[in-house]
Amino acid sequence: MKKIIPFVLVLCLCLACKNEPTSKAMAEAESTTEHTIEKPEFAIIIHGGAGTILKKNMTPEKEAAYKAKLEEAIRVGYEILKNGGSSLEAVEKTINVMEDSPLFNAGKGAVFTNAETNELDASIMDGKTLNAGASAGTTTVRNPINLARAVMEQSKHVMLSGKGAEIFAEEQGLTIVDPSYFHTDRRLESLKRVKEREAKQEGKVDTESAYLDFYDTDIKNAKFGTVGCAALDKNGNLAAGTSTGGMTNKRYGRVGDAPIIGSGTYANNATCAVSSTGWGEYFIRAQVAHDISALIDYKGLSLKEAAKIVLDKVADLGGDGGIVAVDKDGNMVADFNTAGMYRATMNDKGELTIGIYEQ
Ligand code: ASP
Repeated sequence: MKKIIPFVLVLCLCLACKNEPTSKAMAEAESTTEHTIEKPEFAIIIHGGAGTILKKNMTPEKEAAYKAKLEEAIRVGYEILKNGGSSLEAVEKTINVMEDSPLFNAGKGAVFTNAETNELDASIMDGKTLNAGASAGTTTVRNPINLARAVMEQSKHVMLSGKGAEIFAEEQGLTIVDPSYFHTDRRLESLKRVKEREAKQEGKVDTESAYLDFYDTDIKNAKFGTVGCAALDKNGNLAAGTSTGGMTNKRYGRVGDAPIIGSGTYANNATCAVSSTGWGEYFIRAQVAHDISALIDYKGLSLKEAAKIVLDKVADLGGDGGIVAVDKDGNMVADFNTAGMYRATMNDKGELTIGIYEQ
């Protein structure tokens, strides 16, 4: 059964007709117009990172591989939602598929730090309770989004980091792997290229070199590769989650926006659920995910309008990236100010869209 949202527009003509309370004016004052808009029972949207993803740099095989993995991932969440499962469950399990794929910068295939390690960040948020969980800088937890959910549900904290987070993950019975599990040659190659460029620039930091921190050898261009998901379930509950390896060549325990609630992830049943991807430092400063929710909440903007304003703010600061989001009425938005963003949506009719480049 579809849920129907009634929009009742009461035409208040009383003030205008204050001096002439004719029966016609009275009748008009009481007249109502009812619009019914179908609200989808559930909806799900995902991203696999935004960046300089250009068709000319992609092979047909690589493009097909990304599309297939995006579809595999979103179908997992779709099935959960279709069968009445929670948006939290859909977000976690959908992200697991992308974490387990070396195509994305999350879980297996995460980018390398300057010390040639992989340090993973993740977060998840429940729009019903505003409860949230996050982990930063872990090296042994196979699926960081599962750790984020465990932090949310099984601890009294919101964010755990490093060794402590790993001990907690073990205590929770999560799958622990040797750090070498995350290693992929492709990402190591990216690190080497970045370091070579850095050496030539003698440590000079400019915009170009900052972009090079995201250099991806496979698609011969800069890109980000975080994964994320936002979903609305049949009970009207929203959830969002984000998982990443962060940025190539990061050091000093750098943490990006992905595990920061309000930046990388936010969900509120009253507004929307958002997952971000992009240049983390700017997404933290712009408080992207919460800002989108706040614009809907306080200003009554649509999800689309809110997302645009906030991404423009990121651009004004000098950063770039994108978001995927779903609002409480099931409207889905994928917006980005980069050349492309891996993304997919599914609605309650089972309709699937997949995108990579700008449309
Ligand atoms: N936002 C992530 C970070 O800065 C990177 C990404 O989205 O790929 O850590």
